Amino acid sequence: MARLVLNQITRAFGDVTATDRISLDVEDGDFLVLLGPSGCGKTTLLRMIAGLLEPTSGSIEVDGEDITALPARKRDLAMVFQSYALYPHLSVAKNLAFPLRVRKMARSEIDERVRVAAEAVDIAHLLDRKPKELSGGQRQRVAVARALVREPRAFLMDEPLSNLDAKLRTATRQELAALHRELGATFVYVTHDQVEAMTMATKIALLNEGRLEQYGTPEELYDTPSSVFAAGFLGSPAMNLVNATLQTGDGKITVLAPGLEAVLWEGATPEREIVIGVRPEHLSVYAGGAPEAVPTAGVAMRGAVELVENLGREQLVHCRVDEGRVTVACERESVWAAGDLVVLTAPASRVHLFDRESGRRLE
Ligand code: ATP
Repeated sequence: MARLVLNQITRAFGDVTATDRISLDVEDGDFLVLLGPSGCGKTTLLRMIAGLLEPTSGSIEVDGEDITALPARKRDLAMVFQSYALYPHLSVAKNLAFPLRVRKMARSEIDERVRVAAEAVDIAHLLDRKPKELSGGQRQRVAVARALVREPRAFLMDEPLSNLDAKLRTATRQELAALHRELGATFVYVTHDQVEAMTMATKIALLNEGRLEQYGTPEELYDTPSSVFAAGFLGSPAMNLVNATLQTGDGKITVLAPGLEAVLWEGATPEREIVIGVRPEHLSVYAGGAPEAVPTAGVAMRGAVELVENLGREQLVHCRVDEGRVTVACERESVWAAGDLVVLTAPASRVHLFDRESGRRLE
């Protein structure tokens, strides 16, 4: 059990700043996902937490104790590697016992811990097998169990599901989330997969080029992305992002852009260049000649349907609006076809506004 605090963690490799002044407060029992595109600094940050890499500056605390200078083996944190790192010539039971034997623990205690860990991840029936006789998902569970036997203060995982096929990944994802709930332990988990982050995390730290872009619950990141980057990274299909100009007058705000019909809502934001964001599931489609569809407070965009994709459960209607593309997620029964002239609308409560220059959210 551990509360983990990162204070202004920076790590440079020559000219590259892999992580840039990252501060995070991770509560005891949180499932923290470090999320972001390739090269954003996730693994570097995890390795510093694990003690495998020293920060250039900044400090790390576990339960109030500064562990920045503590070697990895003294941190009491268990790392589960992507490759699982199991010993191929040893049985599952011996793989699990190995870290305890290294610590010269009594045989009876080792047996008991192995049994408890194996039952926790449902591999008790596999204890006599060798790693090569296991499926990818089973190997994954053995790797977690081997971390469990050490009764660590927190579990650290670097893309542990990336070697699994799609179906097994979904199943193992659910198992890991359940395991986290059962253990109540702190997990720190690296992935570039937003679905893994959304489904397992209690907190997401979204990284971009070494910086912390946003830190919050999955719902906070999805519902109120703090930047254009966060808005575009979470959600599939991605949030629609359209350039526009904010103009103020009479205490109302008008957003003007080619193809944008009329947008009015209360507020006091100064005139500036902005980006409007609307998620595909929050847009409605109306026939082009239906002026009543335009909301009194919200966005309305005129465009033409370019392509309709049937995904089985829903349809994606891809439209051209002026120079840009806007995607709408519709019920499968929607009647739209390529070439239709349409109006796309969303109420103001579903519209996100970002400053175009800084990329930051406008409140
Ligand atoms: P991925 O998802 O591809 O694993 P990541 O988000 O985990 O990416 P890191 O591996 O932390 O990213 O790398 C962050 C940056 O630091 C990258 O620009 C990378 O090239 C650089 N970097 C990482 N380790 C080293 C190293 N040992 N020497 C030099 N540069 C490094």
